[in-house]
Amino acid sequence: NKTRANDYVHNVYEQLKKRNMHETEFLQAAREVLDSLRPVFFKHPEYLDEGILERITEPDRVFTFRVTWEDDAGRVRVNRGFRVQFNNSIGPYKGGIRFHPSVNISIMKFLGFEQIFKNALTGMPIGGGKGGSDFDPKGKSDREIMRFVQSFITELSKYIGPDTDVPAGDIGVGKREIGYMFGQYKRLKSKFDAGVLTGKDPEQGGSLGRKEATGYGLVYFVDEMLKGKGDSFAGKKVVVSGSGNVAIYAMEKAIQLGATVIGCSDSSGYIYDPSGIDLEVVKQLKEYSNKRIKDYTMDHPRAVYKEGCIGIWTIPCDIALPCATQNELDEESAKILLENGVTAVAEGANMPSTEEAVHVFHTGGVLFGPGKAANAGGVAVSAMEMSQNSMRLSWTAEEVDEKLKLVMKNIYTSANEAAINYDYPGNLVVGANIAGFLKVADAMVAHGIH
Ligand code: GLU
Repeated sequence: NKTRANDYVHNVYEQLKKRNMHETEFLQAAREVLDSLRPVFFKHPEYLDEGILERITEPDRVFTFRVTWEDDAGRVRVNRGFRVQFNNSIGPYKGGIRFHPSVNISIMKFLGFEQIFKNALTGMPIGGGKGGSDFDPKGKSDREIMRFVQSFITELSKYIGPDTDVPAGDIGVGKREIGYMFGQYKRLKSKFDAGVLTGKDPEQGGSLGRKEATGYGLVYFVDEMLKGKGDSFAGKKVVVSGSGNVAIYAMEKAIQLGATVIGCSDSSGYIYDPSGIDLEVVKQLKEYSNKRIKDYTMDHPRAVYKEGCIGIWTIPCDIALPCATQNELDEESAKILLENGVTAVAEGANMPSTEEAVHVFHTGGVLFGPGKAANAGGVAVSAMEMSQNSMRLSWTAEEVDEKLKLVMKNIYTSANEAAINYDYPGNLVVGANIAGFLKVADAMVAHGIH
């Protein structure tokens, strides 16, 4: 059984490599999942006969489309739009939209693939998808954003719907962009389909607590990891990369639980404030005025600003929360964190740690929370937004927060238990991948081979 399972995983991966030769991020994400599923196939060879791995690694469909828009100077501009509908075995495709110049098919597929398992882990009925564009929102006027978004959603509207595929935000897409998407969708379809998009403004059908959900959820998850060791956030020094939506609310919750956040960053550089970052200033800069993190030092001259983001991992801390983007934390950074005594690392971003970095954490005895589990709070509250939209009512912020806490606790428990049951105690990468996979694989078996 072991040899058969190992051969199976090996062959599926070789096929994937051949078919998706230049898709490095997708192959990276797929390899990690495939590797950690080996123990499942040792125990359950029936999944081999059903060809689950071959099927789950090939998206149901991928759309790419031209997005034409006019800039403020009246010039015609063209970007590429994407939507990957990866797997809808347990619910409608669900996943964010990313606007960033790095967006390409490999990044879309890696994100869509991760989303399958993450969404399954939440325990909610949502499948996996992702979308985006190589459009760079940086430096664009509000009207340019609106025109771009209207063009983008005009094409995307053909493929989505409240029971089909439900996009949300990701890097570069927040409630303003979702608002413009929703407005144009409404105009195109002549109906108010609240559940077609999540991450809407709470005034217009969004859920309270959605904005905070990924960051708060991440900290709730880490709190569960720490509790498992009889520890807590109180008195801990925390470093959070990024200063977007995920980072800001991770910092807020960590501070509420008694930690001191001493570093954060943006794509230009990072700040180190040993006496504790003044979160209100960061919010002012990044959430309300579109400025750079560098400007933090104008209010707080005791803080240090350094160019480049990778250096943030040289700040000695107890807990590190990478909340910026994929592969932002490499082997070298992981070693420095370990040498400096880090005890827990959890991913607010999707796949921010390289494979080598994860290996350093695992062998160094660091508690490690993979993104699929640790950052699932965002999409979990998105699923709650879908529920509220279907019922045409809204829950209070307290209700949403209670439910989020429970979801994060359950994710931790199911990942931790799967790791134990499949002989990798303490390895939440293996545990999360297996627990998420089993839900989707069982649905795929039940639905027949197609
Ligand atoms: N973009 C987020 C993620 O990576 C949220 C997706 C959603 O809410 O649908 O999970």
